[in-house]
Amino acid sequence: MAIPRKKFVAGNWKMNMTSSEVSPYLEVFRLETEGINNVDIAIIPPFTALAKASEILGGTQKIRLGAQNMSPEVKGAYTGEISATMLRDLFIRYVLVGHSERRRLFGETDELVHRKVVTALASELRPILCVGETLEERQAGQEKAILEAQLSGALTGLTTDQLEEIVIAYEPVWAIGTGLTATPAQAQEAHHFIRDYLATDSGLEIAAKTRILYGGSVTADNARELLFQPDIDGALVGGASLDPRSFAEIVAAAVPTE
Ligand code: PEP
Repeated sequence: MAIPRKKFVAGNWKMNMTSSEVSPYLEVFRLETEGINNVDIAIIPPFTALAKASEILGGTQKIRLGAQNMSPEVKGAYTGEISATMLRDLFIRYVLVGHSERRRLFGETDELVHRKVVTALASELRPILCVGETLEERQAGQEKAILEAQLSGALTGLTTDQLEEIVIAYEPVWAIGTGLTATPAQAQEAHHFIRDYLATDSGLEIAAKTRILYGGSVTADNARELLFQPDIDGALVGGASLDPRSFAEIVAAAVPTE
């Protein structure tokens, strides 16, 4: 029997928005999403805005909070780092791990990504594991090999219970912040490949339960077609999540139609 997967839409603010911008944003966003209850929603502000967002949302179930990054270490002499415990202290539920900007600009390897996944899970944070190929890799026909390497690097050795906590985001690097969205068919093909990988590696139940989000220039205009492909369970939205109305429109596009 197919396991229904609730749609999940998360907004990654990246290095934008100050703490004082959180309240006006949330005021509009909460109003615009008031009637929507059947989509999981998360916002992922920068670290400095998390405390404010947490104070306003007060641990509500409706809008969850995520962090954009986290140290693989638990505590200690790691100047400038933020630990999983610090995030839990602010009622943060999710953490992005392996975002392509961190892989590309900050040299994060699959091995580091794996350590972050393990540390997050040990603190009951749910990792949103980002995977995706560059344009050169796609043009060379290597996208599936890249996805497989990133998935196996990050997920190796995890138990079934741990795997159940993970959300995967397929984010083709060439589509992030470029305005070039993967076509629904291209995205579906990659998502299907990821689900097949999970089935082979971790079993059919994990494959059926795991939510796989699409990320890469999602907007209110293209969201619906992407979100209703069979293996696409939501969206990780960057640029378009900075405007509360646009982001609310994307959340609305995820509402199932029956
Ligand atoms: C992202 O940063 O995860 C992302 C998908 O960005 P954008 O929506 O701006 O392409």
